[in-house]
Amino acid sequence: MTKPFRTLDDVDVSGKRVLLRVDLNVPMEQGRVTDTTRLERVAPTIAEIADKAGKAILLAHFGRPKGPDAKDSLKPVAAELSKVLGKPVAFADDCIGDVAQKAVAAMKNGDILCLENTRFHKEEEKNDPAFVAELAKLGDIWINDAFSAAHRAHASTEGLGHKLPAYAGRTMQAELEALNKALEAPTKPVIAIIGGAKVSTKIDLLENLVSKVDALVIGGGMANTFLHAQGVNVGKSLAEKDLAATALRILDKAQAANCAIILPVDATVAFHFAANAPSHAYGLDAIPADGMILDVGPQSVERVHSAIDDAATLVWNGPLGAFELTPFDRGTVVAARHAAARTKAGKLVSVAGGGDTVAALNQAGVAGDFTYVSTAGGAFLEWMEGKPLPGVEVLRAK
Ligand code: AMP
Repeated sequence: MTKPFRTLDDVDVSGKRVLLRVDLNVPMEQGRVTDTTRLERVAPTIAEIADKAGKAILLAHFGRPKGPDAKDSLKPVAAELSKVLGKPVAFADDCIGDVAQKAVAAMKNGDILCLENTRFHKEEEKNDPAFVAELAKLGDIWINDAFSAAHRAHASTEGLGHKLPAYAGRTMQAELEALNKALEAPTKPVIAIIGGAKVSTKIDLLENLVSKVDALVIGGGMANTFLHAQGVNVGKSLAEKDLAATALRILDKAQAANCAIILPVDATVAFHFAANAPSHAYGLDAIPADGMILDVGPQSVERVHSAIDDAATLVWNGPLGAFELTPFDRGTVVAARHAAARTKAGKLVSVAGGGDTVAALNQAGVAGDFTYVSTAGGAFLEWMEGKPLPGVEVLRAK
């Protein structure tokens, strides 16, 4: 396979100062890291650089500070990362200037240093050339291992790639290879399952997918908008009635592209938006006027199952119902388990992503059984929309 981007296989890091962009945006409560998943994801790249006698200099943002702000310091994250790696991680109180330069100069081969939050400088998000040049002074090469930030053209996520030799880290590489297998060069037929609350946040995504996949399952609140557009009375369900024309346009586009659209054929309806609210399955011609569709119905789940059975590749974003409220997680959970079983049986390549989707797959207990689960939110959606990601484009072999 030709490599569309350069990786750690294409560079000898020994003795080099490696500026490594990582995602350290972990959830924190009262100064303590509450979930180390993201640290575990970047650990292999850091360990590989250190083991190959490179100097790993970590660059990352944290939160959305307006300037230096102790509550958004990466210092406690660096301490937690050191535990995950089982190696010391030094820390510098600034990512540029004297402080950073002295800390880098003190490094020996195989050392790891974490620089303070890049967003303490407003120039980071502006991709300011002078700031990029200051960062570039600290390294011989730049490695981007933060797919989740690759939809942003910021100094540390994109700018550096124009100043220094640029490579994908192992986490970025795994993500790009999985995404490539799912949409760019997939085994056909390809099915996409798109759920979630609203059509309005996923118009670009739906429009891109109908031209790429063989079948598109639409579930969740957004399905109500499509059903309403087709003349179904959706009662008090969440639906963006003003987007009826958009929904019909997407259906037309799908038909022109030979993409089968699989909408719900029945619905699980309750009368309150609450966990364990009494509910029943209704046909689409019988949704009560005061009812709310909170999940796809049992016949719809069967249709999703057979659509999954017909597919060789699956891309999934968004829950099929209000999965935070039992029992309205049922459609999502049952379909996720089915996709997981097909994947385990070697019949399906399954790629899922987006914050709620990861939570839903975890709830179904099957996140580990999918071929790949992306924890990137915005970047994953922009990739599904078919948009080039600046932090990835800059890595492509020129
Ligand atoms: P999104 O962030 O667009 O992927 O939407 C996820 C949210 O959609 C979750 O909080 C779900 O509870 C919500 N959702 C999915 N289906 C429905 C539905 N039928 N009615 C109301 N909310 C829903």
